[in-house]
Amino acid sequence: MKIIRLKPGKERSLQRRHPWVFDGAVARGGGDAGETVRVESHEGQFLAWGAFSPASRIRVRAWSFDEAQRIDAAFFRDTLARAIALRSRLGIESNGIRLVHGESDGLPGLIVDRYGDTLVAQFTACGVERWKDAIADALIELTGCPRLYERSDTSSRKLEGLPEVTGWLRGSGETAFELLEHGWRLGLDIAQGHKTGYYLDQRDSRLALYQYTKRLGFAQVLNCFSYTGGFSVAALAGGAGHVTSIDSSGPALEQARANLLLNGLDPAQASFMDADVNASLRQFVAEGRSFDAIVLDPPKFAPTAAHAERAARAYKDLNRQAFKLLTPGGVLFTFSCSGGIGVELFHKIVASAGLDAGVDGAILQRLGGACDHPMTINFPEGEYLKGLVVMKKA
Ligand code: SAH
Repeated sequence: MKIIRLKPGKERSLQRRHPWVFDGAVARGGGDAGETVRVESHEGQFLAWGAFSPASRIRVRAWSFDEAQRIDAAFFRDTLARAIALRSRLGIESNGIRLVHGESDGLPGLIVDRYGDTLVAQFTACGVERWKDAIADALIELTGCPRLYERSDTSSRKLEGLPEVTGWLRGSGETAFELLEHGWRLGLDIAQGHKTGYYLDQRDSRLALYQYTKRLGFAQVLNCFSYTGGFSVAALAGGAGHVTSIDSSGPALEQARANLLLNGLDPAQASFMDADVNASLRQFVAEGRSFDAIVLDPPKFAPTAAHAERAARAYKDLNRQAFKLLTPGGVLFTFSCSGGIGVELFHKIVASAGLDAGVDGAILQRLGGACDHPMTINFPEGEYLKGLVVMKKA
């Protein structure tokens, strides 16, 4: 068995059960890609069993902090069973559910979403890549789903030295799927869509927009980074007068249009712009347009803390433009899905964007990822999705 010996003082993070060991913490030792290694403190004390990643800055991802734990097929089956059991207890009313959420479920690098009886998995690190067959077999057995599609086409695989892989891993079938979320029908495609096909993490926030629309009666809604129009459907279902959806993906907008029709909503109350959000917001400001509610749900600007500064500027600029476009009493639903931007920093960014725009705002609510995307206390990076509902004072 291979041993990774840490530098003096570098044992603290694992002792606090943070599951990552960075390259700079390693004094000596190595292994093959995904191989199980024993991580020890400088003094030789056992810290964790983990998967070795020779190419990544995250050199080891911990499987277990229990010295007696064997890392074998049974370990993966048991850990998956716990993750799946949690979801069934949560009783989420949707046929699209995240079953496995990486580090937070004790399986670093593994994402599994269930769409009806189809599973979609992302293997984003060497450890889960090495155990792929055992994981796939256990998933099929534990869920009773006949098929599993692999969407290992994330950019993080490059950092691990792994190629992109997509396709059926077990079984086969249709890749088009109709999601039922809060009673809304949302078409998606697990092979063509972003991530595993849909942004399941924003489920609760879409419901929040629906509820605020019902209460406050937004006439004009702007949905920026709309993807397939989940927030647009929510706003129109809540009684919004008109929703403008902006995204730079043509196929996503086509699906958004189709999703409106699927829900019997009136296309005359919707417009779609295949455009860059930054440019569109500036254009709207120049044209003197205004909106009663604006959703800002941009892609990840800061995957890690190293990108935080540049990302902060980009978030601030977006939010500043959005504040300018809000009517007095209008509401901004603003999000960041960057692991590198913490809750407090995001709050500061939005506050200073408001100041710059000369807007006084009140935070009505904080939002976050849905409960099938849990966070572990020991892994702050897991709290990647954060949102604020801010009302512009009249
Ligand atoms: N709100 C969506 C998820 C948004 S994901 C939901 O609830 O499902 C981010 C989206 O931003 C993606 O669809 C991507 O195509 C789009 N995007 C990324 N950069 C963009 C840009 N500069 N202008 C417009 N859209 C952009």
